[in-house]
Amino acid sequence: MPTARRVSESVNSNPGSGQNPRDALSRVRIVLANPSHPGNIGAAARAMKTMDLARLILVRPKKFPDPEATARAAGAGDLLARAVVCDTLDQALSGTVFAVALSARHRNLGPQRLQAREAAATILENAEAGDVALVFGNETTGLSNEEVQRCQRTVFIPANPEYSSLNLGAAVQVMSYELRLAACGGRPIEVTRTVPFRSPPAGSDDIERFYAHLERVTIRTGFLDPKQPKRLMAKIRRLFGRTGLERDEINILRGMLDAVERAGERR
Ligand code: SAH
Repeated sequence: MPTARRVSESVNSNPGSGQNPRDALSRVRIVLANPSHPGNIGAAARAMKTMDLARLILVRPKKFPDPEATARAAGAGDLLARAVVCDTLDQALSGTVFAVALSARHRNLGPQRLQAREAAATILENAEAGDVALVFGNETTGLSNEEVQRCQRTVFIPANPEYSSLNLGAAVQVMSYELRLAACGGRPIEVTRTVPFRSPPAGSDDIERFYAHLERVTIRTGFLDPKQPKRLMAKIRRLFGRTGLERDEINILRGMLDAVERAGERR
């Protein structure tokens, strides 16, 4: 069993305050109470990092650190390295202003039950005042009634009533997502790493040369009868006028017309 380390300073560190969604998320602790499978610890770390959460606290993990946790964390090894290990849930919750217990089960006389989405909003509201915690239970036994009673709310993920128990890592993923969604006002900014392709718009000279080229080729191939043009070019202009032709696209179209002309010459 790893011994508790740096509990006071690590668990209680509060990295700042303000209106930035990242500030609220930085005050969220994900607490795994008595996790049995190191793979689930790694999966939880990965789930958290994808949603911009960073503070993982483990209460008496059966095996940690462990290569299986590292493997399942993939690129979130930094969260594992910074994870705080405690001996008791009280240590994990020390300094928090609000804690919720994640449980699929209904408990008599338990704290008020909230569904995941409404819980996320409540958790973030409380994060304005200080650190908040989401407590997840052991894979087999879940959370004990005593553990649940240490929290101010019970939260359930509204799953299939016939089969409502999610894998621990999956439950952390769902709640981390809900917190991120709530922190970003329901619309997280989409970040794309690829630079979208952009070509400058084609100028009118280029476009006119293209229409002249097209007309020449359609006449030469016999598609357009210049004695009976039937407003073909007007319709073609209407078609391309809708597209907002780019310079790159004009080059492609001109290249195709050149190829048609060359093929005609070879015959
Ligand atoms: N067999 C256990 C469940 C273990 S799943 C039981 O009956 O309680 C491991 C942990 O994931 C649970 O303790 C809980 O914290 C979380 N979890 C799984 N499914 C959940 C759900 N539908 N709602 C809320 N928490 C859930």
